[in-house]
Amino acid sequence: MTLVTIRSDGSSLLEGYRRTVGQRTLTVLERVARRLKGHRIVMVNSTSTGGGVAEILHRLVALLNELGVPTTWEVMPGDARFYGITKTIHNTLHGWPGSLSPEDRDYFHEMNRRAAERLALDGDLVLIHDPQPAAIVAHRRRPHQHWVWRCHIDLSRANPEVWDFLAPEVTRYDAAVFSHVAFVPPLPIPAYLVPPSIDPLSDKNRELSEEEEDALLDPLDLPSRKPWITQVSRFDRIKDPSGVVDAFLLARKREDAHLVLAGGTADDDPEGAEVLNEVQTKVAGRSDVSVLSLPPDAHLTINAMQRRSTVVLQKSLREGFALTVSEALWKRRAVVASAVGGIPLQVLHERTGLLVRSIEGCAFQITRLLRSGELRRRLGQAGREHVREHFLHPREACDYLAVFARLIERGI
Ligand code: UDP
Repeated sequence: MTLVTIRSDGSSLLEGYRRTVGQRTLTVLERVARRLKGHRIVMVNSTSTGGGVAEILHRLVALLNELGVPTTWEVMPGDARFYGITKTIHNTLHGWPGSLSPEDRDYFHEMNRRAAERLALDGDLVLIHDPQPAAIVAHRRRPHQHWVWRCHIDLSRANPEVWDFLAPEVTRYDAAVFSHVAFVPPLPIPAYLVPPSIDPLSDKNRELSEEEEDALLDPLDLPSRKPWITQVSRFDRIKDPSGVVDAFLLARKREDAHLVLAGGTADDDPEGAEVLNEVQTKVAGRSDVSVLSLPPDAHLTINAMQRRSTVVLQKSLREGFALTVSEALWKRRAVVASAVGGIPLQVLHERTGLLVRSIEGCAFQITRLLRSGELRRRLGQAGREHVREHFLHPREACDYLAVFARLIERGI
């Protein structure tokens, strides 16, 4: 399946970014894009909706096309068995318990072989996102193509057996890209660093008027007078929704507030419904907690919810990057987030937000923020500027294009 996102209103992304990040950033971006002229890029991942990678690709693909670098997006087909296996690979690479049977390994390779036959992989540069389609590289046919593996996972605590299974595939690539230096494993191929980013112009992040916010939030029936403590995430154990409830209940003993746990599922995540069920059971009967199951296109609703929240949480136990953190910081929110994965790139402790390592620490920082509007404003303002400088799409597009241009020009 080929997906190319075209902005429905026909307006220019570049013009919008110019207003947000300034002419200088755009000039550099356009200059790097010219080095790629005449070269085609193919992006490959495993889902078109749900999760951070799909969120990024919808907009980055459109931006690269607008920059004159023809880019297409292929989604690898899968089934429940494959997604069960790739979820185990994802979690174990993040250092979570789990293992792969010999049958799982064979099925993973078989699905990658089939995907290689079905997908249109005829670009000059093929960028494969994450482990699910990583083994497609074994079937590369065109000799002059460049293949790059883009890993969004924190591999610093990877299960050695699962990494040993995947590593031979990764070494077939010409280069790999990681979000953080701490995630880079020993590899015989060049490794580049490209942290993810958010789109300030998307429905998820664009400015909203108060009337728009009201219209989006009214149907949710959330208490308007209490401060909201919000976590937006897929219902996934590594996002620790249960720990969020525990931290909230501790903080709630000291300050009145309302907890909003909002999330949906991703096509390639088979555990979402089960985890949602666990959370709903845990908070059953409580009037100070709302658990919202959102459709995949609830971008404007999430935008409004983040904007109205007094504190935004990301209490993950493992994390690649957490786009949700940049989304909240961009909206000048006070963020409390775990010091895991790529979160500390975004949350500089006491400067752009507050980092925590436990339920008690999380409760303490929520309480602190609920009590100090001044602290919330200071962190939120600094957070907005930190995201503007480091975590908006023009920077990520520029980084990717620089890596691609280097590979192509050097004939790697
Ligand atoms: N998201 C969404 N709906 C949901 C839950 C999350 O649109 O119900 C979005 C969220 O706003 C963010 C992305 O999905 O843009 C999740 O990316 P992140 O890096 O935070 O986590 P991932 O799901 O990739 O682990």
